[in-house]
Order: sequence, then C-alpha cells, then structure tokens
Amino acid sequence: MPESWKNWSGGIACEPGSIAAPAHEAEVLGLVRLAAASGQTVRVVGTGHSSMPLVTTDGGIMVSLARMHGLLGVDETIPAATFRGGTKIWTIGDPLLERGYSMITMGDIDRQAIAGALGTATHGTGRSLGNISSALVHVRMVTGSGELIEFDAESDPETFPAIRVSLGALGIITAATIRVLPAYRLHEKVERVPMDTCMAKLEEHIASNRHFEFFWHPPEDVAEMKMLNPTEDGPEAVADREGERIGWSPHIIPSVRERRFHEMEYAIPAEHGPECFARVRERMRDKHPDVGWPVEYRTVAPDDAYLSPHGGRDSVTISIHQAARLPYEDFFFDIEPIFREYGGRPHWGKVNSLGRDELRSLYPQWDTFERVRDRLDPGGVMLNPYLRGLFVSG
Ligand SMILES: Cc1cc2nc3c(=O)[nH]c(=O)nc-3n(C[C@H](O)[C@H](O)[C@H](O)COP(=O)(O)OP(=O)(O)OC[C@H]3O[C@@H](n4cnc5c(N)ncnc54)[C@H](O)[C@@H]3O)c2cc1C
Repeated sequence: MPESWKNWSGGIACEPGSIAAPAHEAEVLGLVRLAAASGQTVRVVGTGHSSMPLVTTDGGIMVSLARMHGLLGVDETIPAATFRGGTKIWTIGDPLLERGYSMITMGDIDRQAIAGALGTATHGTGRSLGNISSALVHVRMVTGSGELIEFDAESDPETFPAIRVSLGALGIITAATIRVLPAYRLHEKVERVPMDTCMAKLEEHIASNRHFEFFWHPPEDVAEMKMLNPTEDGPEAVADREGERIGWSPHIIPSVRERRFHEMEYAIPAEHGPECFARVRERMRDKHPDVGWPVEYRTVAPDDAYLSPHGGRDSVTISIHQAARLPYEDFFFDIEPIFREYGGRPHWGKVNSLGRDELRSLYPQWDTFERVRDRLDPGGVMLNPYLRGLFVSG
C-alpha cells in the first residue's frame, strides 16, 4: 500500500511505496542495496521543511533517520561534535551546553534534522558566519552505490565540497561532525524603526553585530531589527528592558514559527543586497500591496561547497513569504526575476522556478559536483525526477 507524505507547508506531496525508519547504519545500507537491486529510488527526508521536491518519491523508498539521533561525542581538540544524521537541531543545544559547547550559528528555527539542514545549506545571519554546512568536517555516508564511506574535509578535497551541500543526492548521511565553539551567551535586542531609518544605517548594523537581520513589514513600512551579540552578562542584566534578553545561544537564536507559509529566498552578492531589496520593496508596494507577510534580510559569509548558494562570495539573503493557505505563484514569480537580475542563487529548500541550465550557469563548480555524484551513485538510486532533471544531462 503506498503511503501519503506532505511537507511542512503542504505544497509538496508524494506517495512513497514505503517509508522506512531504520535504527542502525546496517539497516540503511540494506535499504539502499535492496533498492539498487530492485530498481527502486531512495529519498532521504529530515523534518520535511523544504518546499521543493527534494525528498519526494512516488512508489520508491522514503527513508527517515528519525530513530537515528543523538550526540555521539565531542572532539575537544578541534573542537567539533558528532551527531547521528537524524538528530533534530532543537535537541542539540542542551547536550552540547552540558559539555561546554554550542553550535557556531543556527537558522531561524531549530526543527530541522542536522543532515536535512546540511543538505540545503541552511544558514542563519551574520557577516562573519557561514552556513551550517561550512562547519562540517567529517561525515559517515551510505552512498547511492551501496557503500558505507567516511569523508573528511582535510583528506577529500574534491569530494568534500560536494558532500557539504548535497541535497541527499549522493547518499544518506548517518553521522555528521561539525565544528562548535565554547558555549556562549547572546544578548538579543529587537527594535522597530521606520524602514528608511534602518536602510540609512544598514552597513553599520551589519558590521557592528555578530548577528544582524531585519524583517520589513510592508503594511506599516517598518523594519523589525534583530541584533545578537555575545555577552558575559546573565539574563538579569536586561530583565527590565523591553525588547532585550540574554541567554545561552541555542535558547536565543531560534524562533518559533507557528503559522505555516510558503517562502522564496535568494542569496545575492552582498554588494547588491541593498539595491536588490529596494527593488523588491518597490515592486511589492506597486503590484502586491495585499501581501502582509514580512520580507527577511540576512547576511552569510562565503564557503567552498560546490552547490552552496553562498559559495565563494559574501551574500545577502532576501526572503519573501506568503501564507500556506494562499496562492503564492503570481507574487513569488513576479519578484524572482529581480533576484535573478542581481545574480541571485535560490535557496535549495525554498520555492524557485530554476531548472538545470539556469542553475548550472550560477555555480562555477556544477560539473565537478556532477562528477562526484556520478562516482558515488552511478546507478542514480538517489535520484527522483526533480533531481534527475538537475544532475543528469539530456
Ligand atoms: C519555518 C521554516 C523556517 C526556516 N528557516 C530557515 C532559515 O533560517 N535558514 C535557512 O537557510 N533555511 C530555513 N528554512 C529551510 C530549511 O532549513 C531547509 O529546507 C532544511 O533543509 C530543512 O531541513 P529538514 O530536516 O526539514 O530537511 P528536509 O527538508 O526533509 O530535506 C532537505 C534535504 O536534505 C536531505 N537530507 C535529509 N536528511 C538527510 C540525510 N540523512 N543524509 C543526506 N541527505 C539528507 C534531503 O534529501 C533533502 O534534499 C526554513 C524552513 C521552514 C519551513
């Protein structure tokens, strides 16, 4: 009996032939080998928060590592922490704090699986902070060719930049080791100012805060600015100040998003960020005045992953949103050409309309990724129709 599956926003659905939840690496290996032998597709899912058909399969095997979770150890010499691939980010903070460490950065929420976040180059904000994948130093992976292989940032200079951001197209990550920092507290300050006031000091805000982002609220034309900085102070230092709080980083960075939405996000070369945002703001005022959802503006440091939207350049990310229950196409696909005019690369896990040729032209190392993919999954076991369309020519 086929099973039904839907992603978080409800915009992506499929009917896998089966949904498997292995508890051990040996079972993962067995599933991939079985699929190869029987000509089936395998797609691995984290929390299902992506809004592109990355994890879908109709009739194939969907694999969830929800039973393969937890902290496996900390190497204090790097320092780096190793997690099973299915570990949800919201469960990482406290065990790491108990060992005296924290993740270097986090995204807006913490519901993703660690391997799911790595898979699409999930990022937070901060001029000096790369995406989560940029902190990856080692993985254990069951490749599409049915082997259990360990890959290392130091010893695999050609393969590792493909592994860092791999859309689950190379194999199933069963364990990931990421660099961490000694545990740190963050001071959060949230301030609402007129949009033009925020833009006038944008560079200063970005330069002077470890994490800076703003949400533009179109109906009021207000920027909600969020600034996070390390502090030695305790929570009591700001207890009586509105819009401020202090706590350990994993307790401060993630937000709770209860209302479901569709999202499109592009990473733009940082120098074009303000102009690109101005164009989006103008277009939304002119043509989409009914959209009440905010636009988010963040910064990400460069990295070396072949398929990282932030690869090789300082980036600004701009995200637009629409309620999950409303049509989003007219709005998103009217804004998308603006992002593209500035050389934007879409977030892999968020809505976009780009196909193989357009994406290939945005990534100088695309062909190297394809070579690695061909080597690790020559039979295309990990490819659904969407991924096949991206990575197999002709
Ligand atoms: C409310 C919300 C907030 C968000 N906030 C941010 C944000 O702040 N920053 C940001 O950059 N993105 C953000 N995103 C996007 C989200 O972080 C990405 O889509 C992320 O990939 C989702 O993680 P997941 O665990 O749900 O993975 P899924 O969506 O299930 O999978 C994502 C990819 O990872 C692969 N994958 C999953 N597990 C494995 C594995 N074990 N081995 C190999 N590959 C694997 C999948 O095959 C797929 O290609 C947000 C999304 C939502 C819905």
